[in-house]
Amino acid sequence: MIRTFQRPIKRIVVKLGSSQIADAQMRPKTEQLYSLAEQISQLRKTGIEVVLVSSGAIALGMGELGETKRSMELAQLQARAAIGQAALMRLYSELFRKVELKCGQVLLTWDDFDNRGRFLNARHTLEAILVKGVVPVINENDTTSTEEIKFGDNDKLSALVASFLHADLLVILSDVDGLYDNDKKVYDEIKDITPEIEGMAGGTKNIHMARGGMKAKIDAVKIATHARTSCVITGGHIKDVLVRVVKGERIGTYFIEKKEKILDGDSEHEFIRSHFKNSKGG
Ligand code: GLU
Repeated sequence: MIRTFQRPIKRIVVKLGSSQIADAQMRPKTEQLYSLAEQISQLRKTGIEVVLVSSGAIALGMGELGETKRSMELAQLQARAAIGQAALMRLYSELFRKVELKCGQVLLTWDDFDNRGRFLNARHTLEAILVKGVVPVINENDTTSTEEIKFGDNDKLSALVASFLHADLLVILSDVDGLYDNDKKVYDEIKDITPEIEGMAGGTKNIHMARGGMKAKIDAVKIATHARTSCVITGGHIKDVLVRVVKGERIGTYFIEKKEKILDGDSEHEFIRSHFKNSKGG
């Protein structure tokens, strides 16, 4: 039996952590990313808009410099991000060109979510990119903003983007197949994130790649589902993962959106700001 989503999927946000972009040598996972570009092209042909939230700048920056051990110093990481962001976009441009798509880079900071004018500007820009049939590739602007470097791997950023673009689905691609229970079985569907569910989510084990792990993903899912975006956490290595998830195949863990009042105008901005404020406390 397939999954039935709450409504037709017209717009999805796909989040790729650093481990989806680079291998342990900090070299790009070109084959897996090419498959993703192909799948995005397939989805676009069926009228589905796709927005990428992609990490990997620091990892590819380390790769460019021939490094595999992550620095502890913030400025050093920011420098890697600046170097790697160029490599990341070069990679995406090449891969999307092969499937006759174009992409555009959008770098956001937390202040862009806090300030209503900047928040609206960012949304208008993203809508204009999507209207052109181009795939926005969003990352945190690591040169000036350090929230994700310290606390996550773009998980929260992807939830805020999914919320403010009113995405129907947020797909978080990971190096695990979903959220595991105590018997190492992947949960198929979760309606409420109870303390028990939260207890199943641990941090990351890969200290050189990025911060976050399952805990950061569950925190992101909480934000998105409250903003009426359903989420799927699943493995980026699974063949045709994106197309299959959108078709409703039961892969990964599906988190059902909350049936709350649709946020609009000021209340929507306030919702997003409140998460921005929470994140400031770490
Ligand atoms: N925005 C960062 C990146 O793209 C976050 C991930 C990290 O801390 O390594 O690389």
